[in-house]
Amino acid sequence: MTFIDKHTSGFNTRAVHAGQELDPVYGAVVPPIHLSSTYAPEAIGKLRKGYDYGRGTNPTRDALQAQIAGLETGNADTGYAYTFSSGLASETALLMAACKPGDRVVVGNDVYGGTYRLLDKVLGPWQLEHHVVDMSNLDQVREALASAKARILWVETPTNPMMKIADIAALAELAKEYDTLLVVDNTFATPYLQLPLQLGADVVVHSTTKYMGGHSDTIGGAVVTENEELANAINFQQYAAGASNSPLDSYLVTRGLKTLGVRMDRHVANATAIAQWLTEHPGVEKVHYPGLEDHPGHEIAKKQMSGFGGMVSVQFKAGVEATRKVAESTHVFRLAESLGGVESLLNYPTAMTHASVEGTELAVPGNLIRLSVGIEDLDDLMGDLEQALQGL
Ligand SMILES: *Cc1c(COP(=O)(O)O)cnc(C)c1O
Repeated sequence: MTFIDKHTSGFNTRAVHAGQELDPVYGAVVPPIHLSSTYAPEAIGKLRKGYDYGRGTNPTRDALQAQIAGLETGNADTGYAYTFSSGLASETALLMAACKPGDRVVVGNDVYGGTYRLLDKVLGPWQLEHHVVDMSNLDQVREALASAKARILWVETPTNPMMKIADIAALAELAKEYDTLLVVDNTFATPYLQLPLQLGADVVVHSTTKYMGGHSDTIGGAVVTENEELANAINFQQYAAGASNSPLDSYLVTRGLKTLGVRMDRHVANATAIAQWLTEHPGVEKVHYPGLEDHPGHEIAKKQMSGFGGMVSVQFKAGVEATRKVAESTHVFRLAESLGGVESLLNYPTAMTHASVEGTELAVPGNLIRLSVGIEDLDDLMGDLEQALQGL
């Protein structure tokens, strides 16, 4: 790649150009989507460009992996990224690559419900142990790491849906002290707003379904690390366990990533205004947004993020029934699971995304809704919320 410098070009330049080699046959500026499942070698054992079979390697997936590695490592270009058919598939591959039966994972008490379900219901029966802590309480984390050897410290920040903030640099120090891998789920912040590897994390995981894809039209995941040995083990999982993502899905995430920066700027601006407006509404009990000055993680968020993200959670004074009614009365905000797309979405975690953690330590209050604030015009979003909150 000659037209950009991987080490000095800015985030948006790398997002647009990294991995996007000019097509050598037609000069197409956008590389083609390589759908072929298999590649003919020049002779037995003599591959043309290193490609043989699409589960293991595919040029469109390689382009995406180069693009993600470039963005998550800042501009150090020292990372390895592997993409998968979902965020959970990427988490599974990482856990299988890094852990063996009997190992222990210390995990935040407010992680994505599916991550907890994976640890508890899928990998628990395979003897992977997990221990739940409050990641915003460093004493509690230290106690958990000191009490028994942990292979992985698994952190989400900001968390889903309580928007808690964990101090990545402080957790990285603790993880080093106890010889534990620090894994950060960077789905909510994205590399545009937060670079965990630069703060000392060992691994970043993503659901590319969310902001990275950005258009609610693809399911995918990614794992990024600068640890070569671990990278090779994850690459092997991608090939040998086989949850790699398709060429079309790879392309959709690549296309989404090119506009990540401009989308995130707009998500942050809209979310900031809506969070502020909600704090002034008489029916609101509490707004969870790290950009608010009274948010308990505000100072840490300011230190480790360059913007506070597009996710806002809100609790209502009127209780569960009234909250469910609000959730069903918006029009621009669509009631749906997922987040991070250009369109605004509203989620009622207790009965939707987090139904699987009901009755556990990760249960979400019944008077809470989560907003994925989209890039529509702010007046339309505010007007929609205003009518849905009428009478509260
Ligand atoms: C959605 C999500 C996941 C899981 O990703 P899928 O693509 O749905 O498998 C993991 N972590 C976070 C924070 C998420 O929001």
